[in-house]
Amino acid sequence: MEKKDINWSEIGFGYVKTDKRYVANFKDGAWDEGALIDDDMILMNECACVLQYAQTCFEGLKAYTTEDGHIVCFRPDLNADRMVDSCARLEMPKFPKDKFVEAVKQVVLANEAYVPPYGSGATLYIRPYMFGINPVIGVKPADEYQFRIFTTPVGPYFKGGAKPITITVSDFDRAAPRGTGHIKAGLNYAMSLHPIMEAHRNGFAENMYLDPATRSKVEETGGANFLFITKDNEVVTPKSDSILPSITRRSLMVVAEKYLGLKVTQREVYFDELKDFAECGLCGTAAVISPVGKICYKDGEINFPSGMDEMGPITKKLYETLTGIQMGRIEAPEGWIEVIK
Ligand SMILES: *Cc1c(COP(=O)(O)O)cnc(C)c1O
Repeated sequence: MEKKDINWSEIGFGYVKTDKRYVANFKDGAWDEGALIDDDMILMNECACVLQYAQTCFEGLKAYTTEDGHIVCFRPDLNADRMVDSCARLEMPKFPKDKFVEAVKQVVLANEAYVPPYGSGATLYIRPYMFGINPVIGVKPADEYQFRIFTTPVGPYFKGGAKPITITVSDFDRAAPRGTGHIKAGLNYAMSLHPIMEAHRNGFAENMYLDPATRSKVEETGGANFLFITKDNEVVTPKSDSILPSITRRSLMVVAEKYLGLKVTQREVYFDELKDFAECGLCGTAAVISPVGKICYKDGEINFPSGMDEMGPITKKLYETLTGIQMGRIEAPEGWIEVIK
């Protein structure tokens, strides 16, 4: 397979059209067979439910080349499960798990020429999504849906090493109690666009969101879960019903306990105790872990002892172990690596 002529280290995180995408249609209460198609454009009615009432959810995962030359992706079954949960909350039909994983594999294989080589740091980002497509004007769920998967090559998240970032505490809330914070819905991102632009205008890389009911507990950022390391090397991650259950974070908790022998705790984390932690990181598919060196808020700032030059030592071990598992350098737990080719 001839790879595309792409400068893998320079591409960044943007959309690049690839050759094939997967489409399945839901109509009259059932999904059709689904197929790979060439057309990257979608034609829909002006009154489509997704356009009027934002009935849409998505997933995100990556395919990449391992050290021994296989093309694989990481725990796609968990993306399938999470999309089922998102769809249930949005009154959308569920897309069967086995078909989801099969479709991910098909679309990656069809775009094999865009899967970056081992060692480039680049990956093929995979975006499954579903939306209500028939006209809806009285507020109700659509009757017809499209499930799609496209892929786009993305560059290494960190060019020249992972430098710790400075984040701020948002004055806005991300998700209401008993709202939709725990599902991967486009609507959670629409309302985060203004806060993140404000954060960027003020010189911060990300927003930390607090629980909206009391604004005393840490939830997550717009698109990544928090991990904290105590001074005794315990791994702590916030617990809340409105945090999106990150697959990266859940995997890192297993890595911490089973591979590194660390104590792992999921509990409510109060903003007031952050100053006592030794390290802080943000977890998600895109970066695996982004180290946080500093948190700025209205009345002051928190500087983690790990500093602004490099990842803290435990964060680094977590990062290296999980990326080692993903790239085939370290043996993976049963079922974590889905071999595509
Ligand atoms: C997608 C997402 C994450 C990260 O989840 P991963 O499965 O690790 O990629 C975290 N928070 C939010 C709000 C997200 O949408």
